[in-house]
Amino acid sequence: MEPVKSNSLAGPRNAPLEMTPEEFRSLGHRLVDDVADLLGSLPSRPLSPAESPLQIRALLGDSPLPEHGTSAETLLQDAAKLLVDHSLFNGHPRFWGFITSPPAPVGILGEMLASAINPNVGGWILSPVASEIEAQTIRWITEMIGYPRDAGGILVTGGNMANMVAFLAARNGRVPWDARKHGLAGEGSRRLRIYASVETHTWLHKAVDMFGLGLDSINWIPAGPNQRINTGELRDKISADRARGDLPFMVIGTAGTVSTGAVDPLPEIAAIAREHNLWFHVDGAYGGFAAVAPNAPADLRGIGLADSVAVDPHKWLYAPLDAGCALVRDRNALHDAFTQQRPPYYQLLQDAEQAVNYFEYGPENSRSFRALKIWLAIRQVGRAGYAKMIGDDIRLAEALFELVSAHSELQAFRQGLSIATFRYVPRDLTPGDAKVEEYLDELNKAVLAALQKSGQAFLTNAVVSGTFVLRACIVNFRTSLADVQALPELVARLGAEQDLKLRPEALRRRAAAHKTSI
Ligand SMILES: *Cc1c(COP(=O)(O)O)cnc(C)c1O
Repeated sequence: MEPVKSNSLAGPRNAPLEMTPEEFRSLGHRLVDDVADLLGSLPSRPLSPAESPLQIRALLGDSPLPEHGTSAETLLQDAAKLLVDHSLFNGHPRFWGFITSPPAPVGILGEMLASAINPNVGGWILSPVASEIEAQTIRWITEMIGYPRDAGGILVTGGNMANMVAFLAARNGRVPWDARKHGLAGEGSRRLRIYASVETHTWLHKAVDMFGLGLDSINWIPAGPNQRINTGELRDKISADRARGDLPFMVIGTAGTVSTGAVDPLPEIAAIAREHNLWFHVDGAYGGFAAVAPNAPADLRGIGLADSVAVDPHKWLYAPLDAGCALVRDRNALHDAFTQQRPPYYQLLQDAEQAVNYFEYGPENSRSFRALKIWLAIRQVGRAGYAKMIGDDIRLAEALFELVSAHSELQAFRQGLSIATFRYVPRDLTPGDAKVEEYLDELNKAVLAALQKSGQAFLTNAVVSGTFVLRACIVNFRTSLADVQALPELVARLGAEQDLKLRPEALRRRAAAHKTSI
């Protein structure tokens, strides 16, 4: 080994990444100014840049790994410009795509504070205050959705991970052999069965794959015309699997489906689960927090009956990405699913006074301080603030649904929670006929693409009973009634344009016929 040259490391370290506090202050102020300008200009900005992957890639160029550095000042200015000029803004008042919210401003600042302290919330000793803030945040989340306050919980990256954490707790909690030791083929093992509606989000496919159960372990239950699980079929399928000697162990209810915002009949599913000793899990990644709003569906109260719940603070708590939350009624069941014999390097972790070491409650080891942005926002607005914002999002979706129902060129489909679905139908076409339906699917796909490109509003799609529809999901505290009122005309205008592009001949003939008949 080369001896350290005394002259190179003597005195201040002079590490290339280090900044003086003065430099940090000046760059930080400048960046905060840029972000404040962005927030102020969002409503007047195009929502998305409408650029292709190749165009965006070209902006970054293809230079090799830089050998030497560049000044942080230049870099932060360049990065801010690059991102502001070429991003899609879910903070825009007319962003209603997928289920993604604007970041709460206090959460943006909270993220900066969290990374300044940089606690590793895997072990209590590394994150004394941060671990306790996470525990308090989780308790407040349980209170918001009507779940027991002493439940086990952990913050994870999002709804997928929250559901998967709960899934493992369910497998561990309901499988009678020692699956943690022997796996799925332990002594006395039987074929495991899970029940979920066909409207369930794809986290479940990933979970059965990752945990080795396989896709065939899911017994899909059809949904009714309202997209809610058919509980008669659920009962029948559980009984049939039992009779065959399989082991039903888990049933999943969704509190707010991705496509239409349908809430499964959770209290009834809870009763079926109890009858058959199944673990009852609720995927509330989208709709769970709506339980706080007085105008939300009454079935959401069934969340309180679940053995586990997944909710997503980065959806309806408007936390900046990322933050999901898994809750398990029996906190020991969560701990038992993830704790391992401690290796020597973790044996000295503090266990005194119920210190929670979060690495033993979930799959992650080193963990970021996700709680702070959520904790700050909850304290900034309280339960009442969330009840109002979520309640207003739902009311705006209802208003949108009424507007599209009343519009002569729009056909309304479903409205659930803060989702409204509809499509563009040219006046001369009557839905129903197979050829017309095929064309309407094609036309509405083109309308959606044009709308996304326009930068004026952002929707995504759903498929409702086989029909391609436009879908607005308002999880956005910036959206006003005026924003919603502007949408029907915008869609009708783009609809007419796309229709003209797709069938110019038919429309020309029709226009000619129209003229002669006058
Ligand atoms: C969004 C969503 C998920 C996935 O959550 P992520 O945060 O995207 O990982 C799962 N289930 C439902 C019902 C959702 O709405």
